[in-house]
Amino acid sequence: MNRQLYSKLIFDLSHEGRRGYSLPEFDYGITSSIPDNLRRESAPKLPEADELTVVRHYTNSSTNNFGVDTGFYPLGSCTMKYNPKADERAVTLCGIGHLHPAAPASTVQGALEIYHVLQKYLSEIGGMAEFTLNPFAGAHGEYTGLMVIRAWHLSHDGGETRRKVLVPDSAHGTNPASAAMAGFEIEEVKSMPDGTVDVDDLRSKLDSSVAAMMMTNPNTVGMFEKNIPEIARMVHEAGALMYYDGANLNPMLGVCRPGDMGFDVMHINLHKTFATPHGGGGPGAGPVGVRAGLEKFLPVPRVVRDNDGTYRITGLPDSCGRVSSWLGNYSVFVKALCYILSMGAEGLAKVGPLATLNANYIMHSLCDLYELPIKGPCKHEFVFDGLKDKSTGVTTMNVAKRLLDFGFHAPTIYFPLLFHESMMIEPTETESPETIDAFIDVMRTIAREASETPEMLIEAPHNTPMRHPDENEAALHPVVTLRDLCSKQI
Ligand SMILES: *Cc1c(COP(=O)(O)O)cnc(C)c1O
Repeated sequence: MNRQLYSKLIFDLSHEGRRGYSLPEFDYGITSSIPDNLRRESAPKLPEADELTVVRHYTNSSTNNFGVDTGFYPLGSCTMKYNPKADERAVTLCGIGHLHPAAPASTVQGALEIYHVLQKYLSEIGGMAEFTLNPFAGAHGEYTGLMVIRAWHLSHDGGETRRKVLVPDSAHGTNPASAAMAGFEIEEVKSMPDGTVDVDDLRSKLDSSVAAMMMTNPNTVGMFEKNIPEIARMVHEAGALMYYDGANLNPMLGVCRPGDMGFDVMHINLHKTFATPHGGGGPGAGPVGVRAGLEKFLPVPRVVRDNDGTYRITGLPDSCGRVSSWLGNYSVFVKALCYILSMGAEGLAKVGPLATLNANYIMHSLCDLYELPIKGPCKHEFVFDGLKDKSTGVTTMNVAKRLLDFGFHAPTIYFPLLFHESMMIEPTETESPETIDAFIDVMRTIAREASETPEMLIEAPHNTPMRHPDENEAALHPVVTLRDLCSKQI
């Protein structure tokens, strides 16, 4: 492939007057019915190119991308695991793919049954009384869960004074953001050196102004929060509720349930754990579960099953309101249910232990060369603080870019913010031992290169379609539309 030619934009390949088709002259005396005042003065500036150039341009562009279908993607905190193709197929089945969201309930009983059954399975998996599938993403689920919590407090005496949500400093950025969106003030709780919540700091912040404590377990540095029973007792004694961020439920599957640990409200990202690809902006789903006593505050609409076995879409008088159009991202629910049914209880119970085994295997195989700031067995992910040998000047960014040369996606870098050179690795349960060993070999090779040829590493990547994009410029002045591009060239 001629990279020079095919890495250009389609606009750069345009030549005035080039056509991608050739059709006989068309003269049936039909005139345009678009009124004069709605017509443009000049034609839009679209690229003009021949068909073969267009086909090659898009086919080659499609191979410039990296995805979990093309290679290993160890992105910590986000569970970029493989999503079985059979689940994708189910969504395209005619009776599902062609549904209209406004179809009367009596004509879509099967679709409503899928929705209802998935709610029940998620309740069982999370140890909760009820679930709603309506929210579109993890952050949206957090927001919805916090709205439920607020509705619950407001139904109690003194609920209006509960303005605060406590969030550990290691939390995913969406936690404080969602709490702010839901109208709460945020107070940060410190972490201990081992990465878990500092219980004494939490105690000092608990009072009658606190509405909820948000927690992730295993937390965002991959550590199991072993003090949950004590934390839950303290939070409940203060009259507040426990929120569980289950965006990354992978390590918990088949091992333990948030409901049994004392959490009152939780969300799950179906687009991380349950067969929908994560990344690229969707579609996703962030179902929210609640323990008994909070069901009536869930968002509407709800799908309920009547005694005669028919399903119905309905409202709730005490609901926190509507958070989505229709019932949410339906295709994502179908994939999740397919995944759960095809794995079965036994298969699901292997997910967490296998994901944890793979993460620990990589951690142990590399911790002689990479700095491991938090020791001890990890769960589904772990964090290195860059290379152990800091004298070479090689940074986490350089290691991440060099990995691309070997055909591996980089892990999450510079997150969590607890360390300077964070590199967060999550292999997931779906990778074969051969892939994991190949990744370990490459990481060891890079560590050797860092001491032998650091200049070469700092220049990496060497073999990717795009080598050194200007990251600052891309973040400050993104060019994402044709209009941006035109204004940039002028
Ligand atoms: C991914 C993630 C989120 C946010 O989920 P979105 O669907 O991207 O909004 C929240 N918390 C944790 C721990 C996550 O990993």
